[in-house]
Order: sequence, then structure tokens, then C-alpha cells
Amino acid sequence: MPPLPVLLYHSVRDDPPGWLAPYTVSRAAFAAQLDALIASGRTPVTCGQIAAARTGGPPLPENAVAVTFDDGYLDFERNALPQLAARGIPATLFVTTGALAPRNHSLLPDVAMLSLGAVARLGAAGVEIGAHTHAHPQLDTLHPSAAAWELTHSKEILEQALGHEIALAAYPHGYSNPRVRELARDAGYRAAFAVRERLSPETDEPYRIARLTVKSDTPAARFGAWLQGAGAPVATPRERASTLAWRYYRRARARVGIPCPLAESR
Ligand SMILES: [Zn+2]
Repeated sequence: MPPLPVLLYHSVRDDPPGWLAPYTVSRAAFAAQLDALIASGRTPVTCGQIAAARTGGPPLPENAVAVTFDDGYLDFERNALPQLAARGIPATLFVTTGALAPRNHSLLPDVAMLSLGAVARLGAAGVEIGAHTHAHPQLDTLHPSAAAWELTHSKEILEQALGHEIALAAYPHGYSNPRVRELARDAGYRAAFAVRERLSPETDEPYRIARLTVKSDTPAARFGAWLQGAGAPVATPRERASTLAWRYYRRARARVGIPCPLAESR
């Protein structure tokens, strides 16, 4: 079974605030990417299908692809969903519950967020909803009890609003470590998604499924290569030394209260 591209989007709009712009895809670029996805002959699958396949369930179709969105921006419903629906492409939306309208706790400044009611409506309409913590912290820098709370509180809020189990999580910024992955399992998630900028192989860890970030400057050629199962490394269980060094650096920064950019991902 060839490795699978799991695409990670944040925002689809033409007028993003500056801090979000690098992680925003214009409406025209998004439409072109979805057309390329369809033209590639890949079969869009849900993250739930990936989770099942990675935990001994039914295998994915050959040439699967998945489309995910992090954070819960209002433009998902306005700009992304109509384009997805027009092509019959399923999507998974990982929601930061503490950033939802009208609260938004100033977590994600100057940007319109979905409300919890809208998320429930999207879920009822067939969008797969996952949790993306409550306050969007770097989970691997938190005390385990705080990280556990982030994972369970967001899950409970969504489960109450949607009326069914929330089985999937995505780590803010993609950051996790073995302890965080254990906490995600203990919280009752069946799988969790990281970033890693890698294709996800059949052997990918269920609590660290690799995704590829689609950014404002992602060239069409690279996007096309991902759809060919190329253009990015295939995820392996071993953590790169640079990832570990970067984590210690971020932990030190978190301790002295220097924020990292919210959409930064690794
Ligand atoms: Zn996020």
C-alpha cells in the first residue's frame, strides 16, 4: 500500500490577516487544488477511515487522500465547504474549542471563527469533526495534567454539542511527544494527527499520523507531486534529532512566556 497524502489546510480566503496569510490559500488556488486532486484519480477518504486502517480495521483504498482543516475558521463554512461539496470530497475539521465564536479568548486575533453551533451544524451535514484542544497550546511543553485537560475538555465540549463520540484529535502546531500521544489515547481518542510534513505510510503511528501543510506559497508542482505520492519524505517512527532539539528550545521559550506564532507547525 503506497503512502497517503493527508492534506492540512487552515484558512481559505482572499483577505487574511497578516499573521494568518502564510497559512491561507486563496479561493482560486483552493479550487485549482481540489480539481488537481480529482484529476489525480485519488480516492478521498475521511480521517476516521485512516484511523480505522491504522488500527487494524479495513484497509484504505489504493491511492487514498484526505483533506483536513485545523483551528475552525469561519471561512471553512463560507469558502472551503462549498468547493468540497461540489466535488464530493469529504473533509475533517479539527476545532480549537476555546477559540470558537463568540469567545475566541483572543487566542487567534482578528479573525472570524465558527461558533459551536455552526460546528454542530457542519457535523450534522457530514463534515467529520475532530478536536484540536481547547486553548491551542504546545501540548509537549505542558505539564501532563494540563495536557490531559486540553485533550479531554475539548473532546467533551464537542461531544456535548454534536451528541456523539469525537474520536479524532489533531495536535496544535502538530507538536506531540510519546507522553502526549499516550494522553491522547487515554483521553479516548482512536487516533491523532500530527503535522510532520510527510506522507503517511501504512505503518504510521495511529497517534501521530503525518500530514502535509498546504500554504499560501505551496507551488502547484509540489501539490501535484504529493498527489503522486512523492515530493515529501515518508514518515518513519524515529524522531529526528532536529525535532528533539527544537522541542527543548520551545519548552524553554514557553517557560519564560515568549509566544510562538500560532500557526507555526512542525
Ligand atoms: Zn492549529
